[in-house]
Amino acid sequence: KRFKDYQLDNQIKRALSELGFQSPLEVQEETIPRILEGRDLVVKSQTGSGKTASFAIPLCEKVDLEVEAPQVLVLAPTRELVDQVKEDFEDIGRYKGVSCCALYGKQPIEKQRRELKTNPHVIVATPGRMLDHLKNRNVKLDHVKYLVIDEADEMLIMGFKEQIDYIVSKLSPERTTLLFSATIPEEVESLSRLYMRDPENIAV
Ligand code: AMP
Repeated sequence: KRFKDYQLDNQIKRALSELGFQSPLEVQEETIPRILEGRDLVVKSQTGSGKTASFAIPLCEKVDLEVEAPQVLVLAPTRELVDQVKEDFEDIGRYKGVSCCALYGKQPIEKQRRELKTNPHVIVATPGRMLDHLKNRNVKLDHVKYLVIDEADEMLIMGFKEQIDYIVSKLSPERTTLLFSATIPEEVESLSRLYMRDPENIAV
C-alpha cells in the first residue's frame, strides 16, 4: 500500500511525497488507520521505526484549521526529541498549514509564551516546561483532542509521572490518547490504565 491510496488530505500527500515517503513503514501501517478512526493506542516501537510520522501523519490530518487553539499535545522526555517531533509535524503539515510550537527548559520562557499567544495547532513539550506554562496561565488546553505520550518508559524513568498527571488532569476526558514506548513495563501499563480508554495494543 502507498500513501497515495490513503484517505489523507492532498496537501499532506504532497508533503509526504516531497519528503520521499512513498509507502508507510510497518508501524505506520498499523497506527494511521486506527488513529484516523479515533482509537486510543499503546504502541511498542523503537526509535528509528518511523514512529514519529506514525502519529504526525494522522494527527496533521486531524488538525482542524478553523479551530485557532492547540488541538494536539505531544509530551516527550528530552529537548532533542521535542525538536525532532516538531520538525516532523512541520514537514508533514507544511502545505496544509499546520502550526507547531516546541516547549522545553533552558530556553527563555518569554519567547515560548509569545509563541503560545499565536495559538499553534500542535504543542510539543517536555512535561516540566509544559507544567510551567500551565501554572503561569500562558496557555489553555481545553481544545486538545489528541494527547501523545512519546517514549513513556523514558519519561517515567526520568521522574515525570507527577507532572504528566497534572497536565493530563487539565485535558478533556473526551480526548484520544496515544502512548508510544520502547518497552512496556508495569509502570507504563498502569499509566495506560489511568489515562486511556480501552486502548488497542500494537507491537512492531
Ligand atoms: P523515527 O522512528 O520517527 O525516528 O523515524 C526514523 C526515520 O524514518 C526518520 O528519518 C524518518 O524521516 C524516516 N521515515 C519515517 N517514515 C518514513 C516512510 N514512510 N518512508 C521513508 N522514511 C520514513
